[in-house]
Amino acid sequence: MKYILVTGGVMSGVGKGIIASSIGTLLKSCGIHVTSIKIDPYLNIDAGTFSPYEHGEVYVLDDGGEVDLDLGNYERFLDVTLHSVNNITTGKIYQEVINRERRGDYLGKTVQVIPHITDAIQDWVERVAKKPVSIDGVQPDVCIVELGGTIGDIESMPFVEAFRQFQFKVKKENFICAHVSFILQPGATGDDKTKPTQASVRELRGLGLIPDLIICRSTKPCFNVEHVKKKISTFCDVALRQVLFMHDLDSIYKVPLFMEKQGALNFLLDRLNLPMNETHNRAFMKQWKKLSDKLDNSQKVIKIALVGKYTQLSDAYASVSRALIHAGAYIKHRVEVTYVEAANLENETKLTDAVGYHEAWQQLCRSDGVIVPGGFGTRGVEGKIEACRWCRETQKPFLGICLGMQAAVIEFSRNVLHIENAETTEIDINAKEPLIVEMPEHCPENKGGTMRLGKRTTIFKKDSNTSNIFKLYGCRKNIEERHRHRYEVNLDYVERLEKSGLKFVGTDTEGRRMEICELNDHPYYVATQFHPEYLTRPLKPSPPFVGLLLASIGKLRSYLDNECHLTPDESCSDNDSDDLSVKLQDLIVTSTNSKIVVNGEV
Ligand code: GLN
Repeated sequence: MKYILVTGGVMSGVGKGIIASSIGTLLKSCGIHVTSIKIDPYLNIDAGTFSPYEHGEVYVLDDGGEVDLDLGNYERFLDVTLHSVNNITTGKIYQEVINRERRGDYLGKTVQVIPHITDAIQDWVERVAKKPVSIDGVQPDVCIVELGGTIGDIESMPFVEAFRQFQFKVKKENFICAHVSFILQPGATGDDKTKPTQASVRELRGLGLIPDLIICRSTKPCFNVEHVKKKISTFCDVALRQVLFMHDLDSIYKVPLFMEKQGALNFLLDRLNLPMNETHNRAFMKQWKKLSDKLDNSQKVIKIALVGKYTQLSDAYASVSRALIHAGAYIKHRVEVTYVEAANLENETKLTDAVGYHEAWQQLCRSDGVIVPGGFGTRGVEGKIEACRWCRETQKPFLGICLGMQAAVIEFSRNVLHIENAETTEIDINAKEPLIVEMPEHCPENKGGTMRLGKRTTIFKKDSNTSNIFKLYGCRKNIEERHRHRYEVNLDYVERLEKSGLKFVGTDTEGRRMEICELNDHPYYVATQFHPEYLTRPLKPSPPFVGLLLASIGKLRSYLDNECHLTPDESCSDNDSDDLSVKLQDLIVTSTNSKIVVNGEV
């Protein structure tokens, strides 16, 4: 087993996760099996109770693990299925050590950070690295370990020390440290400043880790790359080929290409003594090049309004935005997402913030399609219900996800079935007409890990032949998607809802949980209790999102009639150029380009 530890310097939030995923992608291009572990040095046991404002969305795994959104990047880039143990937090490690201490495993010894915590970290990493993450069940060859935060943070010290010891345990030839740093570019001097990078590498070395690669992130391309490279090489004591550059690109899918161009793959293979598989590499990278070309060359724009609650931070909807990008690339369209504050669509806002109210409605009306994503709590729910009503009445393509489906059901009950007091018990525990009710599994005293989580099967009903979503999923009887919810549709109302046209086309295996609903007399009105966004892949877009985008450009019908194949007109021709070279100019963000990309995607 080979290990690549990715650390951060100077500051956090510079895209260490994308760099780490891209390193994995490069290795995968040679047929190497790659897995990853993300370390979050905070004390929480998992990300389940985080507000999306803190760390962005909570990402959900097949096994129900609620983890950091970076795990989503790994799954999507490497096309793997990770486990909740692939996300380590300080809380998890301490919990394990304290449990062992209570069991008497330490035989009366004093339990300390070194060696007990550091040993527990190393054991965890070694154990989890071997866990298969691909469908073929093969044990991975390389494990990428991303250490969250920045070198020097107090809370990450035990992890740094654990890896200092670990490099000797697994031997130097099986261990690489890649340090992602940041080059400052103060406008006044027009210079690229490397001093903070030098300081952070000094700190890293001081803690006993020697960087094998220094990846210099920056906003703009460095003015004089060779000069900066020499400087870092001299002051940080590494060879020139060990210094890589990565300025902001307009798409994260260009990062592996740009890294390969700078020789990263050859360095990694040499250093880890791994074989190069030219044929595999070429075919694999060609796919990535094609994807990035599709993103570049898609001139046509689809405007999607995302009606949410955490609209100030696009990372709160990271997977939804990725799912839109992947589906957009598939049909060669750029997706422009507008985040609409749900509460601003509510009637009351007209009085308190008339500008906000009218702006929100304008944003909604300007869109080609609408998504009402998942969410929790009371704020904005009425606005989401309004958005559902508007989409239903105006025939606007609509995709509701989780809370979005619950909002769609409430809206339909109120305005079509005329059940005036239709409500979810999440908002009103004594609701007179509880259309959405708590699931029995939920235990209200304890908020952590009490939801219906992870991958579950949805079965399409026998009479689904006219259903758009059934066809989009390839007319399969069963599908598997990931869940994260506490509430569900009340079975007492299902018959009435269906009689009036809201069809529950998919249920759980026992037929007792409503998983998908759809309106027949509408171009595309689909809502799912599950979260389809968690299983999207760059080259395997998620069907509900493909359906939404196609309906938004009026091409869903022809696509479905064509058995879910794109006509040349829809896909444009796949220009299979063999030229894999990426020109630096291609990779520079232009102001127009960067604006069109979905927020948060840089
Ligand atoms: N709050 C709702 C529930 O718990 C929806 C959850 C979600 O959208 N992820 O069921």
